[in-house]
Amino acid sequence: MDGKCGILLVGDEKMIIIKDLFANLAILISLLFLYTQVSNRSPLTSKSSYRIKAQSGIFGGILGNVLMHYSINIGTTIIDLRLIPIILLAYFGGVVPTFISMFMVIGGRFLIGINISSYASSILVFVVAIFSVLISNSNLSKQMKQLLMLTFINISASILFIYLIEDINFLITLLPIYWIASYLSGYIAFNTVTFLRKSQELFNKYKSESMIDPLTGLNNVRKFDEIFNQTLEELEKKNKKLSLLYIDIDFFKKINDTYGHAEGDVVLKELGYILRSCTRTFDIVSRNGGEEFTVLLLDCPLDQAVQIGERIRKTVEDKPFALTQGGTVNLTVSIGVSCYSDTTKETGLIINDADKALYEAKRSGRNMLCVAHY
Ligand code: GH3
Ligand code: MG
Ligand code: MG
Repeated sequence: MDGKCGILLVGDEKMIIIKDLFANLAILISLLFLYTQVSNRSPLTSKSSYRIKAQSGIFGGILGNVLMHYSINIGTTIIDLRLIPIILLAYFGGVVPTFISMFMVIGGRFLIGINISSYASSILVFVVAIFSVLISNSNLSKQMKQLLMLTFINISASILFIYLIEDINFLITLLPIYWIASYLSGYIAFNTVTFLRKSQELFNKYKSESMIDPLTGLNNVRKFDEIFNQTLEELEKKNKKLSLLYIDIDFFKKINDTYGHAEGDVVLKELGYILRSCTRTFDIVSRNGGEEFTVLLLDCPLDQAVQIGERIRKTVEDKPFALTQGGTVNLTVSIGVSCYSDTTKETGLIINDADKALYEAKRSGRNMLCVAHY
């Protein structure tokens, strides 16, 4: 997008410029797509860590350089979209990534050649970077910011072209095409990134929601299964212990029948807090369905699992559960415990053994903890 005077244009120069910019747009969108996919877990924002900002800045710098190298030179003129990554970075990430990318683009341009056009284009990149950061920090609407950034690119690039290119015919051909291509590319780039980010955000949200029980915020049975299966694989490799508490509220149906389903939900929620507070931060607490919960105790032998289970049972027994309609209700839980390899020699039987122990606790009078038989 910078150049030097004295270009002789022959034949279909319009097509050459259009092809050049189209190729640039294709590279721009492909690399933006790739980067947005790769950075999906931590997309660039003005509040991102310096590491993310630096990574994005470096990516923008590389992208700018790739665009420069893949442009078609007409004479010594280089026409490309290298300013688009700079304004995208300013728009999404603020000053740090913009300036990293700006320095890389300026450096890359000087590597191509040190001459009047490389100096002039470096000033252009610098001015666009400053302007875009200022606009990005303003209170203007998103659309207005994008429009101003793109218009500023077009005006300042046009001034540069007029300064560097003497061939009026070429300028008359170049400028309108450049303006249209630049608006179009900028619009597509902004919208591609915004669309990809929104889809990824929704995908991540739905993915995490599909694994979480909405009432208690604990893992749901799907997540429990996933973690349990992962844990088993490691267990067999590392020969570690794993304990499982299977917990069921005693006579929960009565609570629903007496106080209503909504109050039953409040109690379930409160029990979720208790289970979290009685266990270690790395234990896996899940609501496996209805009024049944599990605690997967990682790297935990039987005696410690029994201690934790007893603590849960006693805490529930002693705690008055507050109801939203006023007053409190007391409840108890029954717990079955199994432990690989203390009670259960086969990893495939851990759940089954804990379930059997729970059944025994129920049969033996409830409000108690039973250990699976060896
Ligand atoms: P036991 O001591 O034998 O476990 O008796 P129980 O009454 O707790 O067991 P039962 O299986 O007979 O009843 C479980 C009840 O849990 C029945 C169902 O209405 C209630 N329940 C299941 N899911 C929910 C829920 O999400 N919210 C509420 N409030 N109740 C639920
Ligand atoms: Mg039950
Ligand atoms: Mg029950």
